[in-house]
Amino acid sequence: MKRTGILSQIVLSLSLAAVLVAYVVGFVAQTTEAQRLSKQLEEQADLTISLLSGLMLESIIIEDVPVLQTGLIEAIARNPKLLSIKILNTNDDVIAEAAAAFEADEGSFVMYERPIELDGFAFGEMVVLWSTREGTALVQERVQQTIMWTGLSVAGLSLLVWGLVHLLALRPLGMIHQRMSDAISGMKRQRRPLPWYASREFWALNYSVGVLEDTFDERDEREFALEQARESADIANKAKSEFLANMSHEIRTPMNGVIGMAELILETKLDEDQRMYADTISKSGSALLTIINDILNFSKIEAGKMELEKAPFNLLHALEDVVTLLSPTGNDKGVEIVLRYDPALPEVFVGDVGRFRQIITNIAGNAMKFTLRGYVCIEVTGEKRMGEHVLNIAVRDTGIGIPQEKLDTIFSAFEQVDGAATRNFEGTGLGLAISERLLKLMGGRIAVSSTVGKGSVFTLSVPLEASTEAPPEAFHSMDMKGLRALVVDDLEVNRIILSERLQTWGMSCVTANCAADALNILKERGDNYFDLLLQDFQMPIMDGGDLARQVRTLPHCKQLPIIVLSSVEQPLDKDEIDELMPCKVTTKPVRAAQLQRVISTMLLTGKDNGQETVPETPKTEGEFDRRISVLMAEDNRTNQLVVSRMLKNAPIDLVLAANGLEAVNLFKRNRPDIILMDMMMPVMDGLQATEEIRELEAASGFSEHTPIIALTANALQSHKDKCLAVGMNDFLSKPISKKSLLDACSRWAKDSIPVERTGT
Ligand code: ADP
Repeated sequence: MKRTGILSQIVLSLSLAAVLVAYVVGFVAQTTEAQRLSKQLEEQADLTISLLSGLMLESIIIEDVPVLQTGLIEAIARNPKLLSIKILNTNDDVIAEAAAAFEADEGSFVMYERPIELDGFAFGEMVVLWSTREGTALVQERVQQTIMWTGLSVAGLSLLVWGLVHLLALRPLGMIHQRMSDAISGMKRQRRPLPWYASREFWALNYSVGVLEDTFDERDEREFALEQARESADIANKAKSEFLANMSHEIRTPMNGVIGMAELILETKLDEDQRMYADTISKSGSALLTIINDILNFSKIEAGKMELEKAPFNLLHALEDVVTLLSPTGNDKGVEIVLRYDPALPEVFVGDVGRFRQIITNIAGNAMKFTLRGYVCIEVTGEKRMGEHVLNIAVRDTGIGIPQEKLDTIFSAFEQVDGAATRNFEGTGLGLAISERLLKLMGGRIAVSSTVGKGSVFTLSVPLEASTEAPPEAFHSMDMKGLRALVVDDLEVNRIILSERLQTWGMSCVTANCAADALNILKERGDNYFDLLLQDFQMPIMDGGDLARQVRTLPHCKQLPIIVLSSVEQPLDKDEIDELMPCKVTTKPVRAAQLQRVISTMLLTGKDNGQETVPETPKTEGEFDRRISVLMAEDNRTNQLVVSRMLKNAPIDLVLAANGLEAVNLFKRNRPDIILMDMMMPVMDGLQATEEIRELEAASGFSEHTPIIALTANALQSHKDKCLAVGMNDFLSKPISKKSLLDACSRWAKDSIPVERTGT
């Protein structure tokens, strides 16, 4: 809606007022003038009548009609306002009359009847018609003039008011309005001061607008500064990520040399000192690598760049991996790590197994680190809520504990209970920070309770979706349903874990907490009751070796398969084991799959004996079914050396290329079985070389691709994606271990890749 301006509103109001005033004034003028006129006429008529009566009194008394007639005509002729005169006698008879020629229209005359008297005595009556025409015209003219003058003066006054309103109110208001609009729209204009005559109220309003303007200016400045800060933060963040990626690359490359070489030296003949030096180099290298990975990981999470994978994985196996990894760290202190997995829970879930392992390794690793005696127990329980399992993983230790006031801070980055000056334990202080943030990404959380000197409990709770899709399992075990086992261990938690595990496979268990108890049970149950004896080695009073020997003295137990679980390697020598046949020794912590395998082989072959040598992975390193040729593109001399030494004893012919271009040329000349490709090289980098090789293959119509394995010092997922996008098949992160290199080579030597799979 278009609104009218205040000026037109004022003009309209003033005009209305003028019309109203003119109307009222006109009406009043009309009434008063009319009254004045009739009064005037009456006076004139009275005067005329009394004059005429006086002059003609005698003639009236004697009724001298001719004289009267002449007199009346004379009077009419002299006064044009007199229209007619009648003289009546006391009997109301007309005795004389005279009239002027006139149109007797209604309202244009008044009639006066006056008695003719002398000394209070009446002689008749005079009737006069008096014209009002002239008077009315006069009144009208006067009224018109009054209206005109009133109208004019009101209009003049309005004009004056309009001018003053414009000057005193509208102009300053307009200026303030303009200033306000400019402030709101952010337009910068030269400020005009208010006119000197503007009223106090306008100055106050103008001042307020000024304050508003300053506030807006400040806000704009702040926003600008903020915008700039954000931009520079973005740039800095990007630079940080790039710097980290570069640093990771730069550090990993020499680390590959250090760790690789140390690993190689350790394989040669060394005296004790040399072995200790090389071992230290290798361990320090690995420790440094952990730190680098921690820092990279943390900054990646902080930058919001951490993405979680989603794939089915076996949670039990992942946890067992961690236990296997951490178990040796407790050997010297005699600290054991055990795992209890609620058998009612499914084993396969959907999630990021790598990150899961990382979290548990961090927390259980801390527990091992800060526990000087006793044990560490990982216990997995859970419940089903709305189609999802909420898992509770409690990591309990009997370690040094954490003071109450530090419980909140340990999850912050770089926070440690020990001050830097009093450090007893190594670490970056990033492990818990990373774990907590990773868990949060998974939708879970972590809590801790602790008593100093008694131990700590870290409780992880995380929602995980169970998967019906089973991850590939390498080993198929025998059916163990209905078999009976005797489990002997002095630690209750171990007895529970072992018997639960066996029961999930359908076995039934009897437990004993010491060797003597076990022997009693064996004697009691008699012939062929048990199919298996599963016993700990480290037990008080009578150890596992003595128990096994005692068992063999029982006549009905000569052929009872015995599995000895030991936390030290080779607690019994070969001769002892031979004596105890059928008997097997397995190093703790024993993984479910491994235990299943040991029991299966033991029960199936019966006679199998000796130290347990079941491999962790189905493929051992260097498992090649033929000689293969490998082309390696790598510009760094040390790395060339490391890789060639690592492959030295494998059935591999290695050809070296110093850059991508050389690699492409060598590929053309002798098609290798596998290509190991560094990413960053002079002349032509690994990505481009891979693209060229894939193009060459497409052009010459090969039916199979040569597998290309990226060797890179870059640990970021984006780089891995780039490698795969250009047609590489696998990815090894530096520093590369001998085992992973050989595993990758043997795997890719067996797998051929049909061309259509990669779609070149
Ligand atoms: P660090 O690399 O130092 O282990 P973390 O973030 O993993 O860093 O842990 C932070 C600190 O929390 C540790 O330095 C230690 O003081 C304390 N802490 C963590 N776990 C335990 C535990 N199980 N027992 C005692 N203290 C612990």
